[in-house]
Amino acid sequence: MNRPNDFPTPATLPTSLDAYALSGSFRVGAFTVHHLSDGLAFGPRQSWFHGIDDDVWMPVLGISDPSAPFPLNFGLFVVVGGGSVTLVDSGFGPEAERFEGIRGGNELLARLAEIGIAPEDVDHVLQTHLHPDHCGGLVQDAPHGAVPTFPRARVHVHAAEVAHWTGPDTAENFMAPYVRSRIEPIAAAGLLRTFAEATAIAPGVTALPLAGHTPGHTVALVADGDRSCLLVGDLAHHPVHFRHHDWHHDLDVDADAHTTARETLCSLAASLGAVVTAPHMPVLTLGRISRDVDPTGAPGDARWSWTRVDPEDVGGVLR
Ligand SMILES: [Zn+2]
Repeated sequence: MNRPNDFPTPATLPTSLDAYALSGSFRVGAFTVHHLSDGLAFGPRQSWFHGIDDDVWMPVLGISDPSAPFPLNFGLFVVVGGGSVTLVDSGFGPEAERFEGIRGGNELLARLAEIGIAPEDVDHVLQTHLHPDHCGGLVQDAPHGAVPTFPRARVHVHAAEVAHWTGPDTAENFMAPYVRSRIEPIAAAGLLRTFAEATAIAPGVTALPLAGHTPGHTVALVADGDRSCLLVGDLAHHPVHFRHHDWHHDLDVDADAHTTARETLCSLAASLGAVVTAPHMPVLTLGRISRDVDPTGAPGDARWSWTRVDPEDVGGVLR
């Protein structure tokens, strides 16, 4: 029986990159959700706890040295079912190779081939947001300019996200040139689809805008009957973020909105009984969210708990 808030720590996580799977899958009703890595790295993660005293966050993660290394997966999801193949994010792409000590970087097409998916099989790509590590695989650099990696796929992005990365907000942003090099060829090819509210993208897949990390940050809900899963993008880099909603990544553009978004997400996840996971977590880091309960059995102090889900309970397979 897994205990609430038994968070992954350096003491419980493998310390070798080779020990981490680059691919795995689990089931949501009749749908299969694959978690693929487009690069795995180790490093200190103070950036996940921006502005929070080390003495506050370190004990929760069982460490006493703020530079203790955690694994960081540059992952994405592939939802297969209902006659449709949908990617949720599109990998890091060639920028991954600038990271030292990364494993499996810029290997998205190889990971897809391993699960029997060719680029032309992909019907939809839903971008949680347009940071480089999430949209890098949208295009392939070719002699006469970049071409869409997935030639048939409609690419769905929140309208505010597109405006942010293609407009004056990001004129000086160091990430913008790469982001624009990914999204502009998609728009030119007529494949870009924008949305501004909760929108059904594909059979079983709904885009739920939850802004804060970026202006158009979006979560993917995968649902089949009473089974559901929330692929939360960068609302959480580590399961501890499902409990501590004001522990922010240093790239969050609107911390207050992000805190509210996490509250909304946890409320939804708890009411659905949904499995939650995120691209930056190691493959098959699955959990469920519940409201804290005090010893009398009544709802607790309005905080949320994360409890690990054993992958085998949801048909999980590591590759
Ligand atoms: Zn990210």
